[in-house]
Amino acid sequence: MSKLIFLGSGNAFGHDGRRHSSYLIEFEDKGKHRLMMMDCGPSTLPALHKKGYSLGDLDLIYISHLHPDHMLGLALLVLDNKWISKLSNPIKLICPVGTQKFLRTICETIYSQDEAEVLPETYEFIETEPGSEYNLFSLHFQFLRAEHTANARMVAIKGAFSLGYSGDTSLVLESLNVLLTCKIVIHEASTFDLVIPNHTTIKDLLEVGINRPNSFFVSHVDSSVSSNTLSFQKNFQLAEDDMEIKF
Ligand SMILES: [Zn+2]
Repeated sequence: MSKLIFLGSGNAFGHDGRRHSSYLIEFEDKGKHRLMMMDCGPSTLPALHKKGYSLGDLDLIYISHLHPDHMLGLALLVLDNKWISKLSNPIKLICPVGTQKFLRTICETIYSQDEAEVLPETYEFIETEPGSEYNLFSLHFQFLRAEHTANARMVAIKGAFSLGYSGDTSLVLESLNVLLTCKIVIHEASTFDLVIPNHTTIKDLLEVGINRPNSFFVSHVDSSVSSNTLSFQKNFQLAEDDMEIKF
């Protein structure tokens, strides 16, 4: 049995006090307890600590794309590693193409060169593109096309657990159909019906007939979504910060 913990369920703007979108998955892999984090915004490290975990507990981090609310927390983890965690092995970081270069520029700009040099001790960069696949531990990652910016892609993960994650994207049916083969799906729904380019609305998801009230979660939401739950709660569920699901 695996556990999904919602560290954050909000968008970049933190409506209703929601933290940036981030998810933690506890799972068993060949007899070992493992911990994977998906996306890491600036509010993610305190959320991780709130759950009783620290940097050294993470086996793997997945980053959906290079927008600050999904990845800027990685720079804070570098500082944590230099001064607090002092990892003996870097964390495997499955991320979009260009992440290593981008994160080095960020660290060199906001910290000193000393901190930037901790980057390879903090992360083992595994850069992947949409359309590719990757195996790690007993997990199989299938990266899918997203319609967004910042090198975004979706992912369907199968093996020790089965979970699909859209990251940020407008609705892409061909990719959504692959996510729907997973036991649990986390899909972004940035607004209820206001169309924002490269994002999904609740109306989009209702129109394509999503009907999985116990296994399809909408996240990365604003207050127009959280104030309209009655219109979709029979079809799918609103994610909340600190919510935990066994699957
Ligand atoms: Zn984005």
